[in-house]
Amino acid sequence: MKLANHTKPGIFLATLVSAVVLAVSAQADDDHAHIGDAVRELPLFDAHIHYKQPAWARYSVKNIIELMDSNGVAMGLVSSTPDEGTIMLWKYAPNRIVPELRPYHDDAGSSNWAKAENMDAYLAERLDKYPHEGIGEFHIHNLDLSDEPLFRKVIGLAKDRNIPLHVHSGPEPVRWLYSLDKDVKIIWAHAGLGEPAAEVYALMQEFPELYADTSLRESSILGAGDGLDPEWKEIIFKFQDRLMIGSDTWVNSQWDNYSGIIESNRRWLSRLPRSVAEKIAYRNAERLFNRKISMDLIGKK
Ligand SMILES: [Zn+2]
Repeated sequence: MKLANHTKPGIFLATLVSAVVLAVSAQADDDHAHIGDAVRELPLFDAHIHYKQPAWARYSVKNIIELMDSNGVAMGLVSSTPDEGTIMLWKYAPNRIVPELRPYHDDAGSSNWAKAENMDAYLAERLDKYPHEGIGEFHIHNLDLSDEPLFRKVIGLAKDRNIPLHVHSGPEPVRWLYSLDKDVKIIWAHAGLGEPAAEVYALMQEFPELYADTSLRESSILGAGDGLDPEWKEIIFKFQDRLMIGSDTWVNSQWDNYSGIIESNRRWLSRLPRSVAEKIAYRNAERLFNRKISMDLIGKK
């Protein structure tokens, strides 16, 4: 009886402590609390915007910047078919838009651009005329080794300006580009889009300088539960310094749903520790494009 009287408060305290520990660890990851709803305070860098011709009539440049404003997207990497869309947007809001040069124009599209006549001259001319900070997003659907001379020129144009290529492809074309020049800078669009998480992990591991945008990957990353898909979680923690979110406004329906897309990105970022969420939301882009990104940009041009 005496013993029980003495130990009861001890047991109560131990139970209380373990309950608190459990409650904290339920919200914690790798010893850091998740950022949770405070993710809304973070400015976003949208690393995969297109402002293609069919969007111009439905969404003015002013509308686009307003959409970015209302979603806390402080800045974005924009490429368009044709490039004039990017330039219109950049001229309207130069402090919000990082322009990159997409090769597609006239008859040159995603499947034939590397065969288009005078493509290298077109790219060189546009790069001289405007301050593009990337070449892409371009597709390499099927690797054709006979395209090597053009790709060597593309890599040369990018390296002369110290800007990345933004490549939509599977892992093999990325390996091939690095084989042509191990120092080329690459952003892997959609982290390979259809590639399984294991392939994404392997390629990011193989090339320590490779960046990726996670556009169109939101539902894979979120997975089925309240956390993150376990394989994607490994990718995100391991390569947290080289990932950026993106919306991929490749058709007007993506613009129509822009708020929903950005919301799903904030949802998976909310399940990360603040330090990791901040990197993927905007800090990696700050470093890559040498910009200052903050909520102060919202409402400005
Ligand atoms: Zn795209």
